[in-house]
Amino acid sequence: MVDLKRQYENMQEEIDAAVLNVIRSTQYINGPEVKDFQSELEAYLNVRHVIPCANGTDALQVAMMALDLKPGDEVITTSFTFVATVEVIALLGLTPVLVDVDPDTFNMDPGALKKAITPKTKAVVPVHLFGQSVHMEPILGIADEHGLYIIEDNAQAIGSEYIFNDGTRKKTGTIGHIGCTSFFPSKNLGCYGDGGAIFTNNSELAQKLRIIVNHGMEVRYYHDSVGVNSRLDSMQAAILRIKLRRLDDYASARQNAADYYDKAFGGHPKLSIPVRSDFSTHVFHQYTLKTSGINRFELQEYLQSKDIPAMVYYPVPMHMQKAYTDPRYKQGDFPVTEELSERVISLPMHTELDEEQLTYITETVLGFCNR
Ligand SMILES: *Cc1c(COP(=O)(O)O)cnc(C)c1O
Repeated sequence: MVDLKRQYENMQEEIDAAVLNVIRSTQYINGPEVKDFQSELEAYLNVRHVIPCANGTDALQVAMMALDLKPGDEVITTSFTFVATVEVIALLGLTPVLVDVDPDTFNMDPGALKKAITPKTKAVVPVHLFGQSVHMEPILGIADEHGLYIIEDNAQAIGSEYIFNDGTRKKTGTIGHIGCTSFFPSKNLGCYGDGGAIFTNNSELAQKLRIIVNHGMEVRYYHDSVGVNSRLDSMQAAILRIKLRRLDDYASARQNAADYYDKAFGGHPKLSIPVRSDFSTHVFHQYTLKTSGINRFELQEYLQSKDIPAMVYYPVPMHMQKAYTDPRYKQGDFPVTEELSERVISLPMHTELDEEQLTYITETVLGFCNR
């Protein structure tokens, strides 16, 4: 699905030198590379505080810990997401409340959010799925009206921009109270191991987040709150500094590949191409088709037999997962989510796709669909 080898080879000297530099410095934890990456990412996102951490799941967990929620408090997110979003809510003893998504963007439907709010609701977690922003303006309004925190799960959309009604733009992850991202290797800004970060413009929250990721410790060996150990290491930070400088070029490469796919599949009776909303730019973490009248697992198998990887994100919605079954939810409760989980398929999408590969992939997909 991604070609990390070719991407590395295109900047091998720079990466090798940076990694070697960290090894020789022996400052493996909290070295200068981490601080430098932190301020470069703050500048890129135009956000006051970036708190690096160990992975995207930790970022979400730490964000929720910083809000001082009580067991039984409700946190609303979507059923059509990666498990981490829901997992951390449950892990902290909070109650995940799931809502349906918009059929065009696959992202949180503000109308569904509004209906799910109860007196116990304390926070909402919009997930910027597949590289495109959630429609944030209505969600900001709803959250404001009900006094809810907004934690953005930005693991799949770093670099994309939400466009407000008045034309103002903000990077996803910097719109709500706290934003979270992942630097898992296959993410749009991926390192060579695990990594993550938390963003906020609120200095008080930033201070809390920094304390939590560091064992609940502000003054060394004095622990005022229960924390965790969640750090981005210096080697990953050094790699991320190099890749951050290329992030916008990477987004363009992905958009070019998406344009090529769109041209090939647009208007096909069995394939719906991704809808690009007018309130967001799209950084195409995934290129996801909605199929109709074909068996997408047969398509996946067919592509596999031609050496083309394809993946189904996500085949089982969260409300249908064994770990998250809840008497409040049953099959049929989230029709858009359920339909998507039955129909979507994602094609290879990365920064190194060339015309020859794109031609081969599109011709092979069309060959299956037209037979
Ligand atoms: C990848 C991902 C995460 C978790 O990130 P990790 O770094 O793997 O822990 C969380 N939410 C979403 C939507 C993701 O895609």
